[in-house]
Amino acid sequence: MTVRNFSLTALPVTHSVWGASRQVVFCDFDGPIVDVSERYYQTYLKGLLAVEQLYEEQIIKHYQEPKISPKARAEALSKAEFWELKQNRTADIEIMLRSGLASELHQPFMQQIERMVNHPSLLRLDRVQPSAQAALHYMKGNGLRLVLVTLRHPRQVEDFLQTHQLAHLIDQVYGVADLNAAQANRVEQKCALLATAIAQQTAQGHRVTGSWMIGDTEADVLAGQAMNLSTAALSCGIRSAAYLKALQPSKLYGGLLSAAGKVVASAMLQAA
Ligand SMILES: [Mg+2]
Repeated sequence: MTVRNFSLTALPVTHSVWGASRQVVFCDFDGPIVDVSERYYQTYLKGLLAVEQLYEEQIIKHYQEPKISPKARAEALSKAEFWELKQNRTADIEIMLRSGLASELHQPFMQQIERMVNHPSLLRLDRVQPSAQAALHYMKGNGLRLVLVTLRHPRQVEDFLQTHQLAHLIDQVYGVADLNAAQANRVEQKCALLATAIAQQTAQGHRVTGSWMIGDTEADVLAGQAMNLSTAALSCGIRSAAYLKALQPSKLYGGLLSAAGKVVASAMLQAA
């Protein structure tokens, strides 16, 4: 029997599941479960290329220099350089400037990124984090109810979970309809979504007292703290360990499996 369903922020749960009362674990999707680094890097490379082409076309069309012209041809960062900047929350304009494009090109560059980042050919680059499958099995096997709270569209989450045979491990997904929400990663949006998830899980009879919120960004840690949950920050995602540590999460781990060990141990302690 499938015990999973999907919810959009503004919509009520479509298929409520009334099973035995279980301890809930709230977990983010990108970062703890999905490695998005290759998709974000390839989107960045394509964004640089698209902005260059846009301005070359403008030169040809008008037989003259465009009013705004790139400083030079972009010099793309390596993936390691790019990801280090992302992990330290460097602004996209700064990443663009370090790649050799003029500051005036910020808007068209961001438009290209937003246009491309959810394209199916790029979404296919997303990978399961190395320890995620074992971690989900471990938590599920120990009777925990796994609830995803993510700024991704539920359809994208569903597709990924199905493709990677993880769907049966997840009990419920709270996502958002806005395709650009994941990249924007707004703290307020995550807080509102987590509050909805907590209220609905409680209404369904599940235990949220002593629950954990697991995630890889400030949005997850701050949302968990705002809702008085224990917070596990993971450095395997889009923020560095040093950046996450400054947010003072309850625990800081390298990946989901280490966090799962702690979450299961604390659930057992609570049940004892
Ligand atoms: Mg994340």
